[in-house]
Amino acid sequence: MFSGRRRQRDDLFDRSFRSCDDCGADVYVLAEDCKDCGTALELRAG
Ligand SMILES: [Zn+2]
Repeated sequence: MFSGRRRQRDDLFDRSFRSCDDCGADVYVLAEDCKDCGTALELRAG
């Protein structure tokens, strides 16, 4: 599935995305709402 993945890249990826509370889709952390279901997401610094 993730061939040749590297931990450092994975960590960066994990920090760049989060799961939508509503539908569980991966949403960019700086996005204001979910691209899948449109749920508004709170921006959480840190
Ligand atoms: Zn969603």
